[in-house]
Amino acid sequence: MPFYITQECTACGDCVDMCPIEAIRVDDPIYVIEPECTDFMECLAFCEVDAIQPIPEMREEPVSTVARTANG
Ligand code: SF4
Repeated sequence: MPFYITQECTACGDCVDMCPIEAIRVDDPIYVIEPECTDFMECLAFCEVDAIQPIPEMREEPVSTVARTANG
């Protein structure tokens, strides 16, 4: 799911009919984007409050390394 709806959503419903796979649905109190979202991005232009945003990429935790000394 590349996009999600933020708390800025005013629940106007303008984006719902723009989704060709019906991946946006009403929830309480705001609308939500279902996992089926396939990145059409048609909905973005219809949100007047920019509440539809890309999901930040998950960051991988760096692998910790243990410094070893000559004495172990
Ligand atoms: S167009 Fe924006 S404010 Fe309106 S329901 Fe969709 S996400 Fe919410």
